[in-house]
Amino acid sequence: MVQDQIVSRDISDRRVIDAMLKIPRHIFVQEAFAAQAYNDKSLPIGEKQTISQPYIVALMTEKLALTGTEKVLEIGTGSGYQTALLATLADRVYSAERIRPLALRARKCLDSLKLFNVQLRINDSEGSPIGWEEEAPFDAIIVTAGAPAIPEVLTDQLALGGRLVIPVGTDSNQQLLTITRNSDGELQYDSSVECRFVPLIGKQGWQA
Ligand code: SAH
Repeated sequence: MVQDQIVSRDISDRRVIDAMLKIPRHIFVQEAFAAQAYNDKSLPIGEKQTISQPYIVALMTEKLALTGTEKVLEIGTGSGYQTALLATLADRVYSAERIRPLALRARKCLDSLKLFNVQLRINDSEGSPIGWEEEAPFDAIIVTAGAPAIPEVLTDQLALGGRLVIPVGTDSNQQLLTITRNSDGELQYDSSVECRFVPLIGKQGWQA
């Protein structure tokens, strides 16, 4: 998977490649899909949600430019696969998920890999804010669900020099955006590939 789908494309961050070699993807998918866990595609994880395609996971992670010292926020824990990579590549990870059974399953997978630098939060009550204000600011924020627009609540939680990676667009097609808060506090925007994520639900996302 890593050679054919990641290295042979445009991913060159050695730390991202090594982390993907280290973290097994099959433990994060349902047993029925375990044989397909290393294929070049997203897969269902139950509750109408999906684990992202490995290449998109690698690309988003590379765009966060993690060195090992960062405090990272993830919105959309899902299977926990992306969370496991973040936990391997950064200092501390805060990950929020709105579907309780997914968060509980992700917790078990992360524990089985002894990734204890992850705090999970279940945002399953209506009106739960997107983001994690009490722990802000973050050096990196990743949103693994598609948003109709960039949630200001998240750019507000970016540290100086921090990066937010988020798919933004319609419910069926998004552009992957990287927003950087530079050392003067200004936001800079960069757009890369087209992608297709399940919807980000919430006040600054889509309606459930
Ligand atoms: N990174 C995950 C992606 C899972 S799909 C993986 O590869 O497994 C996106 C997840 O975002 C879903 O589990 C969905 O429930 C969750 N989600 C959607 N809106 C959310 C919100 N406002 N807060 C937290 N999680 C949210």
